[in-house]
Order: sequence, then C-alpha cells, then structure tokens
Amino acid sequence: MANFFIIGGSGAYYLGKGALGIEAEAIEAKTPFGPAGPIHILDLKGQRIGFLSRHGERGYTLTAPFINYRANIWAAKELGAERILTWTGPGAINPKFRPGDYVVPSDILDFTKSRPLTFFENTGLGFIRQNPVFCPVLRLSFLRAAKKSSSRIHDGGTYACTEGPRLETPAEVRFLKKAGADMVGMTLVPEVFLARELEMCYASICYITNYAEGVKALPYRKGELFEGALPSKEKAKVDAALASLPEIIAQTIIDLAEKERRCPCKDAMLRYKIKGDIGKDWRRWSETKS
Ligand SMILES: [Zn+2]
Repeated sequence: MANFFIIGGSGAYYLGKGALGIEAEAIEAKTPFGPAGPIHILDLKGQRIGFLSRHGERGYTLTAPFINYRANIWAAKELGAERILTWTGPGAINPKFRPGDYVVPSDILDFTKSRPLTFFENTGLGFIRQNPVFCPVLRLSFLRAAKKSSSRIHDGGTYACTEGPRLETPAEVRFLKKAGADMVGMTLVPEVFLARELEMCYASICYITNYAEGVKALPYRKGELFEGALPSKEKAKVDAALASLPEIIAQTIIDLAEKERRCPCKDAMLRYKIKGDIGKDWRRWSETKS
C-alpha cells in the first residue's frame, strides 16, 4: 500500500537516485489498459510512496501523446494511492511567469486531440463536475512547502494542455493567451481527470522551463533544448527549481500525512453509487454497461 503516489514530469530522470526516498521495491504494473510505466516504491521519511517518471527512466524517451495515462493512474489506485502529487515543466504565457518559477495551477484548458480521456468508455459514467479542477487541500500544501524554496511561487494559473510532441506555433500561443491560458504544457490532461474518475486527490506543481512561442523575441538556436525558447542565462534558474522539487514534495507529503481527506475528491462518483450504477469495487466501474 502506498497512500501517496508521485508522478515525476520532465527532468525526473535527472534527479539523483534516492532524491525522493529509499527504494524498497520496483514494480511492473499490468492494468486492463496495458502496462504502466515502471513504478518505484520508496520510503520517504517514514511514508511508503509510489513514484513513476512520466517520460521515462533514463531521459525524455516517452513524449506526452504516447504516455499511457490510464495505465499509470490505474496502477496508482491499485497500489492504494489516495493522493497523487505531480510536477510538470510548461512554457510561460503569462508575462508574470519566468523560467525557474513555480506555479501551482488552478485550472485547465484541454487542447489534446487523440488521447483516451476516460476509464468509462460506453458506460454512462463520468459526467462529473470539474470545479475545483485540482484538489484544494493538495494545492495548499504544495504552496506552503514551495514558499520555503528560493524560487518565486505563484498561486494559481490556467494550464493549457496541447497534444505534442511538437511545441506550439506562435499563432497557437496567441490563441491560448486570448483563451485565458497562463502556461502551456502537454501532460496534465488527461491525468487530472482520470484521477478524479477513480476518486483520488490530484494536484500538480509546475516549474516553468521556457517561454511559450512568441511571448519573447528569442533567436532560433540550433541543436539546443527548446531551440532557443529558454535563454541560456535563465537555464540555471530552471535547474535550481527542478533540484528543489524533491524537497518540496517531501514537505508536502509530511504536511498532508496526518490530514484526513475532507475534500470532495473522494466522493466524485458518489452520485453513481447512490443510484446503484456502481458498487464498492472500483475495478469494476469501467466494465459497467449502461
Ligand atoms: Zn482532494
């Protein structure tokens, strides 16, 4: 059993072994939606947690549209996770956000195109409210923990999720800005929505890794990460923000460990339970036929 499950975003593979706790076990989880990414059961200051690196173990080997989000979230639930803490490295659209800043997002715009978005295909289930989008309790703990770091921290922001793997065009970023996006990335959808379908709390901390296209006049630099969308003088701040993430996550977990779940997340499917559409065994919910 692992009450907490961490999904590491970009840069997870650069963190040293043991950065998030001492490994107790490695798991290859199989799910009805295929295999999940490799999961490590870690001991983090006395808490048994699950950890999964979204983009691969030895580098950015799995791009956003090809991640098996359903398998990863299912595996987290199977391990007994009630709370999922994740990070992600989006590009800044809001001029207040700079590379190396943390943002605890509060809302989502979904511009993904071809990903399976639900566990509940052809079941009549899943017509559930999405406000708050992220677990409010987890968000507050993230904010409290991140305040102690040297990076700037922003409370709230709208994360636009695009399909990838390519970065966005200038016109797309202008459109996203007009639509209300503060940052743009490729991974929080469908993760956050899938976690709610299985009644788990979910929140994310973003560390800004680059400027979205057109936000700043930046020359094209061949052969570099983002091809110049991260000015080289700002890279050190991004690296520092990534390096501080394990400590922020550890602090967040310590803050949450003794707290009961009083947020609405654990009852996301209650309406269907009351109606008798689904039973106690969440593994059977996706088999439900309408
Ligand atoms: Zn919650």
